[in-house]
Amino acid sequence: MIGPGKAIGVLGGGQLGRMFAQAAQSMGYRVHVYEQSGPSPAGAVADRETVAPFDDAAALEAFARTVDVVTYEFENIPAEPLEAVARIVPVRPSPAVLSICQNRWREKAWLKANGFPHVAYEEALDGDIAPAVERLGLPCVVKTADFGYDGKGQMRISGRDDLARAAAIFRARRCVVERWVDFEKEISVICARTGEGETRAFPAAENLHESHILDVSIVPARVPREVEQAAAALAAAIAGRLGVVGLVTVEMFLCRGGGLVVNELAPRPHNSGHWTLDACETSQFEQQVRAVCGLPLGPCGLRSPAVMVNILGDAWAWAGGAVAGEPDWSRVLREPAARLHLYGKPEPRPGRKMGHFTVQGGDLDWSLGLALELKSRMRAGAGPTSG
Ligand code: AMP
Repeated sequence: MIGPGKAIGVLGGGQLGRMFAQAAQSMGYRVHVYEQSGPSPAGAVADRETVAPFDDAAALEAFARTVDVVTYEFENIPAEPLEAVARIVPVRPSPAVLSICQNRWREKAWLKANGFPHVAYEEALDGDIAPAVERLGLPCVVKTADFGYDGKGQMRISGRDDLARAAAIFRARRCVVERWVDFEKEISVICARTGEGETRAFPAAENLHESHILDVSIVPARVPREVEQAAAALAAAIAGRLGVVGLVTVEMFLCRGGGLVVNELAPRPHNSGHWTLDACETSQFEQQVRAVCGLPLGPCGLRSPAVMVNILGDAWAWAGGAVAGEPDWSRVLREPAARLHLYGKPEPRPGRKMGHFTVQGGDLDWSLGLALELKSRMRAGAGPTSG
């Protein structure tokens, strides 16, 4: 066990690292963040921050020598530096788990080899997308095999014109072509697993996306009880088969006509689990601390239905590419059932995740109604604040 008072290293300095650091510190740990590109949201709250690229072997080694365990908050970490760190200090989840989850070819091949339900797909190399589309049928979606997130590096193909454009855009990239799933809902389950093999899954979240970016998470997911149970069992089975020590988030589609298929795995806390901070017995970040440090896992019970709304840079007012007004935070702050979380990012940008808020305490319909109302009222320029 790596007990309180020890130091945890975090690769990546985004908001997930920030909320992880805050959870770790509240449990008495010290946190050292390693971030590539300048002072970061996580670095702003950590005990220490190293700003250096991943190929700076000396900086990475110095970082590894100051901590007792290392975890990460994003997937785009090259394999070699991560393995170098793992030779000095335990990395959890392991580099082998990250390697599977950070590349769509490996991830899908792993799901297939292990018999987990996944979306029908084909690998496409060097822009050779047409034959894959031919075999899968239209519509399809092309995704880069690596370095994609929040819908970046993706394109839906519904006809010949799209196909020509995709061939040009994805030239010289390794891609997967997936059949378009006619889903009823998107849900996700975050499952923690310890080194001893104990697993605990958080309740499934129902996720609504806008322009491929998570917009709203609704918990509990509005799905039949047996779907919820099947989703939890699927996530626990994946965590076990991966041998993950830490968290794994399993994003799934509930297909029209029934049946769950896995869309994506992430070996870390997830945007669709932010509601756990306010509405769950243990937050996903505390659970990550517990799992990577070998502490007993916390209970995952939902205190009350919850709705999480992402706050993107789009909530600011924009004029000619420049910020022209800030969201009206008082709309959210005045509401006793809402909790506002901002990530301390100095510069908003459209599509950039700046914060989120969670509404909880009432029943689900009430929480959803209030959350959507607050979302539209807090947008810059939504009208004067009333009482
Ligand atoms: P991803 O980055 O793979 O999670 O994709 C982002 C979002 O695009 C998903 O959450 C879905 O809303 C949508 N999407 C991705 N792949 C598919 C698919 N094969 N069929 C339908 N929708 C998809």
